[in-house]
Parts: sequence; structure tokens; C-alpha cells
Amino acid sequence: MSTEPTYDLAVIGAGPLGAATARHAAETGARVVLIGPDEPADPTTHEGTWSGHYDQGRLCHVLEVPLVTSLLAMRSQRRFADLITRTGVNFLTPTHSVTVLPDQAPGGSASLWFDAEPLARNAADLGVEVDHLDEDALAAAYPALRFEPGHVALRQQDAFILDPRGLVRAELAAALAAGAELVRDEVVSTERREDGVRVCGRGGAAWTARSVVHATGAATNATGLLERPLRLATYGATVVLAEIDGPDAVEMPTMMMMKVRDGRRLFGGIVMAPVRYPDGRWYLKTSGASLLAHPLETREEIAAWVRTGGNAADIEEARALLADLLPDLEPLSMRTRPCLVCATPSDRPYIDRVDDRTVVLVEGERGAMSADEIGRLGAGLALTGRWTDTLPHEAFTAQWADEPSGEPVGA
Ligand SMILES: Cc1cc2nc3c(=O)[nH]c(=O)nc-3n(C[C@H](O)[C@H](O)[C@H](O)COP(=O)(O)OP(=O)(O)OC[C@H]3O[C@@H](n4cnc5c(N)ncnc54)[C@H](O)[C@@H]3O)c2cc1C
Repeated sequence: MSTEPTYDLAVIGAGPLGAATARHAAETGARVVLIGPDEPADPTTHEGTWSGHYDQGRLCHVLEVPLVTSLLAMRSQRRFADLITRTGVNFLTPTHSVTVLPDQAPGGSASLWFDAEPLARNAADLGVEVDHLDEDALAAAYPALRFEPGHVALRQQDAFILDPRGLVRAELAAALAAGAELVRDEVVSTERREDGVRVCGRGGAAWTARSVVHATGAATNATGLLERPLRLATYGATVVLAEIDGPDAVEMPTMMMMKVRDGRRLFGGIVMAPVRYPDGRWYLKTSGASLLAHPLETREEIAAWVRTGGNAADIEEARALLADLLPDLEPLSMRTRPCLVCATPSDRPYIDRVDDRTVVLVEGERGAMSADEIGRLGAGLALTGRWTDTLPHEAFTAQWADEPSGEPVGA
């Protein structure tokens, strides 16, 4: 006997993508349940999967590749003022976004993040002004910083540091205000029914919905909830937090930085301007070479990685970087935090249907700045079964591990 599902949509995972999906769906009038655990209090004793957003700072800018990522971020950003006003949760801090790289890029396969030409072209396509700073202009713009000789930069002056925990709080507040229900549980199984999907939680509860969105981030394959794994590489990432006196300890932008000396790459990653963390202290954040160095597959591997607290060797890399970059600044302390990240072979998010009742959403490396738009697109796809956006849906097609593809994952 078939029974009418209680909800139009069940969203699995209450991170940036899931929270945004729930709010956009609820704001259309749909009955929505969002199921996902809150942030665990203590990583050192953690069991289970983890997330990519348990942190205070993510770049929100257009100096990105591919173009479609910058576009998703811009579409999201256009709605942030309204979201902040309506919820009273401010998750944005203005910053300059500066991509620093050697004037003469070394040969080899440096990440596209450090290829100035497509970054500048993308910004131009989107009508966003960026400055080209030569070595002297870079030094003059940020006199507290010492850059490696021969390095130049691209700069977007109207970028933001986005607090991903704050973004999730705002999206959840808007979703709940629009009638969505939030359940703090982990989903352990989904089951197709005649009229929809039954979603079961570890706590023993179950929910029925016409359709379901999986927004479980880098842990998506590890949840085992999809019938077959996605082509998706998941990594244990590390952020290094260097504690400083306060926001005025240093005047600096937020940087994607490639540092090369004598043809050798010494650092490639992010250096974030001071951000206040929940302990009330201020930190500079770096995340560098080990970002994609710790592949993880299972729930148990993820939990074990989280319990390590991150890659301790990254502290030395960060210390050396900051000593050169900010010779007058002595961090009060340095520590690591674990994080999860993932990469798709297309370098674009997956926003796709798994079957007629199931949608999967994944964006591994820029899913804070672009989450609101990915959630809007995902909610529309799940509720209507159709792709109606002017962007081609093919750009966001999910790839499956059991299907051949020429592209390496995580390149
Ligand atoms: C070091 C680092 C730097 C980054 N820098 C940037 C940046 O500058 N700009 C940017 O935009 N992005 C950045 N990112 C990426 C960004 O943080 C992620 O893309 C984003 O967090 C993805 O959001 P999500 O909702 O898809 O996944 P997540 O944030 O991982 O959230 C997924 C949620 O699903 C939940 N979940 C998992 N399994 C289950 C289950 N079985 N049942 C229910 N819930 C479940 C998890 O608990 C989690 O809350 C960075 C990431 C890292 C690690």
C-alpha cells in the first residue's frame, strides 16, 4: 500500500550546500526536511565522517577557475546582502583577494589557480575589475609583507572572507523561517518507495519524501548511501592557524600564493588575513602543499584522519612561509586543524540526478562561495525534475567510478 510522503524534499547533509538547498526549496513553499549532524565538539575523539566547512574563513572572490565556478560564486554573492539582512547573521568580511605568483611561471603542471591569464580573463568576462601588480607595485601595496623576488600579483579589491559556519547558520535560519525542519541525525540508509524515498537516521527515526538531495560533501562516497560511488577523490586537508595579537597585528590581504625560489616551488596555497575564531583569538590561516596529499575512502579512514588533528608537518611549512612573508611578526602559537576536501575530474561541481527521485550535489574546493547558487540549482532540479537554468546542465554532470573517463581525478 502506498502512502503519501510527508515531505516534498529530504536533504541529507546540513553543510553549506545542504543548508542552501533546504532554504531555496522551502522558500518555494515545498515541505522540506534537512537531516545532518551538528559540528562535533572534539575532533580528537571523533567517530564518523567530517566536513569541509568546520572553519571560520573561506575566500569569496572571482579569481577562480573554471569560469563557471566564478559565475556560481557571483550569483551566490548577489543574494548575500539579502540573506544577511533577513537572518541577522553576518558571515562576510571585506578583504583584498591577491593571487601571488612568479612573473616567470616555472614549467610543469602548476595548478590552474596559479595561471594568471585565465584568472584575469574570467574576471574580465564577469565584468569584475582586477589590478595587475608588478613586483614594485605589489611591495608598495602591502608594505608589511616581504614577497619573493620576481613575484607579481592579480588583485580583486572587493572580495570577502566568508565564514562558512556563519553561512550555514544564515542558510539554516532562512530555511527554518520558510518552514523547513532540521533534524540533527546522520542518515544511514535510503530506500526507494512507490511514491518517493524513505530516509533512515542512525537515531532510529525515518522520513518519507518525494525526492532526496545528497549534500554530504567530500564524505559522499564514504556514506555508502549512493548505489555506486562517484568519480570523486576525497582528501584529509590541513589548515594551520598562527595565533596573533589581534586584527591590527598585521595589515594584509588574503592571498592565493605560489612561491618559487630557484625554480623550486616552496609554497602553493592560501594565506588568509586575520580572522577571529570561536575561542575569541585571532589567527592567520594557511593551507598548503598537503591539501591533496592524504587520500581517504571510508568513514573509518576519515574519522582516523580527523583524530590526528591534521598533518603536523604543515606547521613547519607555514612557519617558514610566514617568517619570510612577515619578518616582523612572531606568531603566539601555531596549530593544525583537520578538514575534508574533494575534487571532481571536471573541476566543476556535480549538480545532477542519480535517478528520478535522487539528486547529488558536490563541490569540493569552492563550495563555500558558490554554495547558495548550487543549492538553488539543486533544489530546482530535485523539486521539478527538470533543469531550467541557462547554464548547460552538461557542465555539472556527475561522473561515476564504474564509468570510463579520460580525466584524472584530483589533477
Ligand atoms: C582547507 C580548505 C580550504 C578551502 N577554501 C575554500 C575557499 O577559500 N573558498 C570556498 O568557497 N571553499 C573553500 N573550501 C571548500 C569548501 O569548504 C567546501 O567546498 C564546502 O564546505 C562544501 O560544502 P558541502 O556542504 O558540500 O560539504 P560539507 O561542508 O562537507 O558539509 C557536508 C555535511 O554533510 C554531513 N554528512 C556527512 N555524512 C552524512 C550523513 N550520512 N547523513 C547526514 N549528514 C551527513 C556532514 O556532517 C557535513 O555537515 C575549502 C576547503 C578546505 C578543506
